[in-house]
Amino acid sequence: MSLKRQAEQRKRAKIRAAVFERDRYRCQVAARVPDAGRCFGALTPHHIKKDGQGGGYTLDNLVSACAHHNERIESDADFARACEAVGLLDTRAGRVRELMDSVDELREELDD
Ligand SMILES: [Zn+2]
Repeated sequence: MSLKRQAEQRKRAKIRAAVFERDRYRCQVAARVPDAGRCFGALTPHHIKKDGQGGGYTLDNLVSACAHHNERIESDADFARACEAVGLLDTRAGRVRELMDSVDELREELDD
């Protein structure tokens, strides 16, 4: 492993520990989303803004979430909206990109 990669991993481990500590090692989805249900699995750092949408591996952009709730945000659109309502998810950048893509598609159709 390169030195640069090792340094990056150490930095991430520190941020991850700080996120868990700030959240008192509790799943923030269960803490903030009404009727979220029980937690399962290990605590993980959940991205509020996704990596590809300008969200970094930073204290501001990460919250503690159990593996179960982290997975459910990805697989359950209604649940994701409930998380977005309490600030645990920010999909605006992704939605803007989807809109821009559909505008591009419409333009291409009009050109045909
Ligand atoms: Zn949970």
